[in-house]
Amino acid sequence: MRAWIELDAGALRHNLSALRALLPHGGALMAVVKANAYGHGDREIARLCASSGVDAFAVATPEEGVRLREDGIRGTILVLGWAGPESAPLLARHSLAQTVVSLEHARALSAAGLPLSVHLKLDTGMHRLGLPWDDAAALAAACACPNLTVTGIYTHLAEASGRSGRSEAATRAQLRRFAQGAETLRAAGCGSAALHVQSSYGLLNYGELPACAWARTGIALYGVLSRPGDQTRANPALQPVLSLRARVVQVRELAAGERAGYDGAFSPSGPARVAVLSIGYADGLPRALSNGRGGVLIHGQYAPIAGLVCMDQLLVDVTGIGGVSPGDTATLIGRDGAAARSAGQLAEACGTITNELFSRLGPRLERVVLPS
Ligand SMILES: *Cc1c(COP(=O)(O)O)cnc(C)c1O
Repeated sequence: MRAWIELDAGALRHNLSALRALLPHGGALMAVVKANAYGHGDREIARLCASSGVDAFAVATPEEGVRLREDGIRGTILVLGWAGPESAPLLARHSLAQTVVSLEHARALSAAGLPLSVHLKLDTGMHRLGLPWDDAAALAAACACPNLTVTGIYTHLAEASGRSGRSEAATRAQLRRFAQGAETLRAAGCGSAALHVQSSYGLLNYGELPACAWARTGIALYGVLSRPGDQTRANPALQPVLSLRARVVQVRELAAGERAGYDGAFSPSGPARVAVLSIGYADGLPRALSNGRGGVLIHGQYAPIAGLVCMDQLLVDVTGIGGVSPGDTATLIGRDGAAARSAGQLAEACGTITNELFSRLGPRLERVVLPS
């Protein structure tokens, strides 16, 4: 294998039980496996979750939901993103629940003429998708659309990761608005719909929410926070699920004065040794990690990225590391002996969050599930 992702099944199981312990009585986890399970591999992750008793999943598009159904995943699969009425046949055939983002959207889906299960999304302050929480007429009208069965009602918290007074006040306001919107819908006849609000930070910072059927956990399920320094009220010992590794395919000596890579961007002050790794930005490794902003572990030691990350390869400086040879494994995320590099470190090194770094990990990477 040139470059691959290892998935730690034991870590995923551990995270599932650690997060379940935070849920109020009667609540369950909805595993968010959109964007190829944040780059981890949606089928692999969904299968492992299902075998640990998870029976609700969230994806971004109907097509992502179909992938899971074709792989034998049962239970609730909720499409979190917008999908037009042209998706109705796919939604109906595969029993996918579709998010309704506005009254017009509800009417368009209903007009497709197929019986659909939908979750109404309320905008309570995020101002992204959703029906206004206080538009009682629109909520009742959406509820009354003939071909739609409202099986869920939810909202998304905009500031659940923030611990400032302002963020907490904004979140408490969203929770109050959601409760009122749900009450309006109950009065309009949507009383049996399941309620859900929290994503990972919502669960970690507001775990006590009653009356919710699900917490929609993504990033925490994968065992990391979006930013490694984030403080959360609950602090379960989550375990990273993903390791990212690549092969050393060549090692070469540079004489004093020689430069390496595009634009000769690696120009060491004296003789040096570089290793060529078979992974590049087309695999999702940001080019912003070039010139030593990122690095890898080889033989348990840190080797900085030398020069510019290429599309399919990159160079690392192994001048100080003995015995590096072709066939060796380089670790970009994960443990190597006593040393470890975290996804958070890599994400911070290129100015992003773990969610983005993960979700860009591409299809060329093989996914290997390590048994627990
Ligand atoms: C992506 C997403 C989630 C999961 O968020 P995490 O922070 O990764 O847990 C939950 N709900 C909605 C609506 C989302 O779009």
